[in-house]
Amino acid sequence: NFAERSEEQVSGAKVIAQALKTQDVEYIFGIVGIPVTEIAIAAQQLGIKYIGMRNEQAACYAASAIGYLTSRPGVCLVVSGPGLIHALGGMANANMNCWPLLVIGGSSERNQETMGAFQEFPQVEACRLYTKFSARPSSIEAIPFVIEKAVRSSIYGRPGACYVDIPADFVNLQVNVNSIKYMERCMSPPISMAETSAVCTAASVIRNAKQPLLIIGKGAAYAHAEESIKKLVEQYKLPFLPTPMGKGVVPDNHPYCVGAARSRALQFADVIVLFGARLNWILHFGLPPRYQPDVKFIQVDICAEELGNNVKPAVTLLGNIHAVTKQLLEELDKTPWQYPPESKWWKTLREKMKSNEAASKELASKKSLPMNYYTVFYHVQEQLPRDCFVVSEGANTMDIGRTVLQNYLPRHRLDAGTFGTMGVGLGFAIAAAVVAKDRSPGQWIICVEGDSAFGFSGMEVETICRYNLPIILLVVNNNGIYQGFDTDTWKEMLKFQDATAVVPPMCLLPNSHYEQVMTAFGGKGYFVQTPEELQKSLRQSLADTTKPSLINIMIEPQATRKAQREEILKKPSDEEDE
Ligand code: ADP
Ligand code: MG
Repeated sequence: NFAERSEEQVSGAKVIAQALKTQDVEYIFGIVGIPVTEIAIAAQQLGIKYIGMRNEQAACYAASAIGYLTSRPGVCLVVSGPGLIHALGGMANANMNCWPLLVIGGSSERNQETMGAFQEFPQVEACRLYTKFSARPSSIEAIPFVIEKAVRSSIYGRPGACYVDIPADFVNLQVNVNSIKYMERCMSPPISMAETSAVCTAASVIRNAKQPLLIIGKGAAYAHAEESIKKLVEQYKLPFLPTPMGKGVVPDNHPYCVGAARSRALQFADVIVLFGARLNWILHFGLPPRYQPDVKFIQVDICAEELGNNVKPAVTLLGNIHAVTKQLLEELDKTPWQYPPESKWWKTLREKMKSNEAASKELASKKSLPMNYYTVFYHVQEQLPRDCFVVSEGANTMDIGRTVLQNYLPRHRLDAGTFGTMGVGLGFAIAAAVVAKDRSPGQWIICVEGDSAFGFSGMEVETICRYNLPIILLVVNNNGIYQGFDTDTWKEMLKFQDATAVVPPMCLLPNSHYEQVMTAFGGKGYFVQTPEELQKSLRQSLADTTKPSLINIMIEPQATRKAQREEILKKPSDEEDE
């Protein structure tokens, strides 16, 4: 009966949870405490999955990866003041990567504002620099409206982070149910297409290219453009180069992938089509000496402000990558054409790939101990399941790992990204694992960490064990940042002096047993020093789907890519990423 119903009350926490549910939020990562605990409980009651993490920074990295993997924002739920401040790193990282994210922060009570309230901080202002949208609803009634707007802003246009601030007094405040109007689920972003004349020009520039190159970025992965881009590559026999997270949009083992001749391809291409990849540091700004001074860039991007950054492009195609690639295909289809497979360009690229691959293989086959990076990664690659996610961070660990570890599926590589952030690995792995569990059970997440990188969020191993996630952590351990010392040198160094005065800033404790962090929480841990031990532990980890593992792989503390390669090539190599 109406009279009874109209008196029914609902808490602010429940309104927030229902607003998130209505916007199709599936996952919340966070750490509860005053004043957000009730929000997490209310969300779980509505069937939203809540993953409790050990640091807000890792929680925020995890939530941002959900956005990249599912095209709808994951939520990071944090407490006021320090909780929110810890999450800023994740917001900045998401925004730099152009990934959708929604952060919900509790904040101090409205009637104590400026009084020095518990964990009081100007949160909406603080988040402005790290987001596309940062706001506090003016009332409980306004919450569904603001949450819809935040979700929409996070996925429309260039994706990014959004923040919604929830004062503590909202959470338990009761309001009449009938006063709340939930917004409809915001639709997926509208698809935009490029100007027809620009598409024609682009097609003719491509047809007239002598040394063409397609660069596939993580924007193409995010746009789900794999089908159209693969068709473009194959139909016209065009060489392509994936950026780190563009790997897998077209499989790495595709015959037209020229990843192993990266520098050569960039340096001598005369036409480069950029599919969702910015000309920032990762692509050496698109400038000489890494490129020809007169290289023609064709830029495909959803963000108009990106077009023309650092270079003057020959053609700009503003729009959704998948839609624009289909436009290009249609235009190119009008005249029969393909890039000649016997061209000099293909020959140069193939030769360079062959010699680079041979050099890496030779390093990998070295029998000396401790192992080098190449030996480790070749053995890992041998057993890597084709459909696994590869998460990676660290300096040499990530750079060398990228050249050896193959991706066959789009959106299956997550790494330090545009911002070069260390500490993202475990959060990303946790996000990939919860998504995989729901959407493609049986998939492994292989998280390849440098020993330093692992340290940033190492306690998330407890989170991994608590939810029993299908994650195998490989810690490639060289006792330091970039480089470390062996145990003997370490002891020698500390004999007579205070460690703080003499230990080089790059060094970490040698011979650390990181695998014990995993066994502490019931997972499996392995300490490996030889290729045989590595093979065996990886085989066992992959065979046991009931538990996560950590394999602590000891490598030569002084191993670097350049030193190793110089040994073989007798000259510095520039063929991989810096
Ligand atoms: P990478 O690190 O792989 O080089 P970047 O992050 O630099 O990739 O570039 C990704 C680009 O993709 C951004 O400029 C972003 O605006 C663009 N982008 C994201 N989503 C889409 C989409 N759906 N359609 C077109 N461009 C997109
Ligand atoms: Mg290291």
